[in-house]
Amino acid sequence: MPHDWRVAKSLVTLLGQVNELCPNRHKDWDGTIGDEKHQQSKSDHNPDSHRVVCAMDITHDPANGFDSYKFADFLKSKHDRRIQYLISNGRIWNRDVHPEIWRTYTGASPHDHHVHISVDHDPALADDNRTWDLSGWKIGPKPQVAFHSLMPGGIYSDIPYDRSVPTSIRTNNPGALNASDWVKAYPGYVSSDETSPGNFTAIFQSPEEGVMAWWDLMQRYRTAGVVTVSDIINRYGGGQDYSDYVDFVSSRTQFSPDHEVKLEGDDQNLLEFAKAMFRYEGGVDTPLSDEQIMLGFRLAREA
Ligand SMILES: [Zn+2]
Repeated sequence: MPHDWRVAKSLVTLLGQVNELCPNRHKDWDGTIGDEKHQQSKSDHNPDSHRVVCAMDITHDPANGFDSYKFADFLKSKHDRRIQYLISNGRIWNRDVHPEIWRTYTGASPHDHHVHISVDHDPALADDNRTWDLSGWKIGPKPQVAFHSLMPGGIYSDIPYDRSVPTSIRTNNPGALNASDWVKAYPGYVSSDETSPGNFTAIFQSPEEGVMAWWDLMQRYRTAGVVTVSDIINRYGGGQDYSDYVDFVSSRTQFSPDHEVKLEGDDQNLLEFAKAMFRYEGGVDTPLSDEQIMLGFRLAREA
């Protein structure tokens, strides 16, 4: 069924320009029309009386040249009359409230994963599809993320999109966790890589933070009563047949499938379990040292 709304032409133009400038940027948080939740409240993501959506979200992806915080500052500085308000990284700017300053944004989402751009509902402005002046906006193809290890001399990857390297290694994400909402909010989360259609693997700034997130996932499983080798791995698969995975980890660790994996007080066995999973995810042994992995466990407990 064709939908009965459309996006303001000014925003279509803007998005096209951004995509041209940042062809490799990620779009996980991109959007125009509101979801059901948005539609219950007043939002520019809902079609207005002209059946036009006057708002757009563009994903924060500094590693691929789109730092949405800087872009928000940049757009504000351009004084383009088409913009009505902007929300970015805990700040809101609205030309009708105060034409110069950012104010603290207190809405539910801090908008640190995307910039929200609303244009004026006046059709003469909303549908003004002239090219936006984006001159002077400094973007570079080089990642602006300082990838590192939290351990001096530790192994890490600064090539998150190099497909010649196993995904879980290049993304500093040894457990190959998907970029779910809580993972996106986790310390060290940078961005994600769409490794297969609709499947986004999280990228972390350091592999220790990747281990932390894995530990946190195990903790979440434990809270849900998922504690054995077999149950953990099957939950990991989310419904796929993971019997090969269970067999692999079981034979590598010598833990039976119904062995309970302890997250506290037995790091040597937890380490063996983690390394077996990391090996299965990567297809090769994890390049991380035992000390790096154990540091991840410790930091996760303190997080
Ligand atoms: Zn928005």
